[in-house]
Amino acid sequence: MVLRPERLRCLRTNTIGPGIPPAGSGPVIYWIQRERRVHDNWALLYAIELHRAFGEASQGVRVCFCMPPSFLGSTMRQYDFKLHGFEELERELADLGIPFDMLTGSPDEELPPYLNSYAPSAIVTDFEPLRTKRNWTTIVVRDTAAPFHQVDAHNVVPAWIASSKEEYAAATLRPKIERLLPTFLEPYPEVVPVGPPVQPTTDWQAVRASVTSDPRVAPVSWLVPGEQAGRSALAGFLFRLDTYQDRNDPIKVGQSDLSPYLHFGQLAPQRAALDVCTLLGLDPAALGDIRTIAHGFLEELIIRRELADNFTHYNDQYDQVSGFHEWAQRSLNEHRSDRREHTYHYEVWDEARTHDELWNAAQRQMVRTGKMHGFMRMYWAKKILEWSHSPEEALATAIALNDRYSLDGRDPNGYAGIAWSIGGVHDRAWTERPVYGKIRYMNANGCRRKFDVDSYIASFPPEESSPE
Ligand SMILES: Cc1cc2nc3c(=O)[nH]c(=O)nc-3n(C[C@H](O)[C@H](O)[C@H](O)COP(=O)(O)OP(=O)(O)OC[C@H]3O[C@@H](n4cnc5c(N)ncnc54)[C@H](O)[C@@H]3O)c2cc1C
Repeated sequence: MVLRPERLRCLRTNTIGPGIPPAGSGPVIYWIQRERRVHDNWALLYAIELHRAFGEASQGVRVCFCMPPSFLGSTMRQYDFKLHGFEELERELADLGIPFDMLTGSPDEELPPYLNSYAPSAIVTDFEPLRTKRNWTTIVVRDTAAPFHQVDAHNVVPAWIASSKEEYAAATLRPKIERLLPTFLEPYPEVVPVGPPVQPTTDWQAVRASVTSDPRVAPVSWLVPGEQAGRSALAGFLFRLDTYQDRNDPIKVGQSDLSPYLHFGQLAPQRAALDVCTLLGLDPAALGDIRTIAHGFLEELIIRRELADNFTHYNDQYDQVSGFHEWAQRSLNEHRSDRREHTYHYEVWDEARTHDELWNAAQRQMVRTGKMHGFMRMYWAKKILEWSHSPEEALATAIALNDRYSLDGRDPNGYAGIAWSIGGVHDRAWTERPVYGKIRYMNANGCRRKFDVDSYIASFPPEESSPE
């Protein structure tokens, strides 16, 4: 079997698999959720493998995606990145003899009749821990008739294997993942065509017209969307891997800038990890302490990212104050009525009009480029806590802004990162101070000690007001 069985969860019945005849006579259908790529995708590989195992009894493989007209505050910036990726995906699949169906509307309503109409021999989907998509999956499983399997094609170590519970911190998840990496950090097989090429059929203009999201947040031009572009971006980053030691300096090119590709499933984290190993001549089966590899890149790419998936998978309150640790909730409660030096409402945050030019610059970086530097994200969210009326309001503001402007928004990493900043999730209690309680504090002086704050502010000046 191409796929390790641990990557798989059976959502309805386990009576399918190599050698077992399928229930329906139609194709194996792969409903894509998070993994919008053809290569390095365990879910697609599994769908193809099932079809092969069924032999004559299954009519090929189909792939579908169902796009709601709006989703968690997504804007045209994010839809554009996603749709360009899908156009490429359809062409690639067509070359492999796999038809692609782009449905529009709400997945829980549109998918069951579509899927049932094919009498599929099996349905495969990929793993997505966020609430809305989890709920869609539950309904689609309930309202369809075929065997239904889910593959974690996002995490190197499948989320349900890495840990069976919400982890307290990176320190508790790391040893579990490191122990399993020799098994799961394995090479991907090539995708082999299923049949002769087919014709792409999607009317992409009509699909674009179905989107009702906010067009005012425009697509960005500095980052090319799609699977091929994702692989090129990875190659470009590996070429300058040494710069990763500067990743905490917002005015240097240090970070990989891979998060939009990882978020939209156009690049597999496991591919990035494997390519780092190849470049450095490392044996993926014997990595040891991954914090030391490639200036900590694998620590972020695997441990921190999979910790975020663990958080959203096991903590249903991942975007609520009630999802914070008990010590953090108690401490924030004790400081509810502390005097705030400044308080702002959503429009002021949104328009980067606070008294703090460093905060405003970070907000402008996100609004203009679709990607705030990782170090600034921490400062940005912590100041939202400090200058909001309540932790609840701070959390809602940070999530709304991040999801609206960031290309990689609406991601487990975002919910975990914001919960870390505002609610101490995956962190420990620090010295108590006003408003923050025991949540870790950050200030502009700390930033000044780390990087050239003035240059950063100068990089994202307020828009020139046009002459009257
Ligand atoms: C307040 C706040 C909000 C955030 N919002 C998001 C978000 O919406 N989407 C998002 O993908 N990340 C988010 N992060 C996590 C992190 O800042 C980004 O993943 C990182 O900046 C993305 O840029 P990069 O790919 O160039 O990072 P690199 O440093 O090059 O890291 C490579 C990859 O490792 C993973 N990674 C790196 N840092 C983290 C981290 N702290 N937690 C989890 N995974 C990590 C990501 O998948 C990232 O793409 C947030 C962090 C904070 C503190």
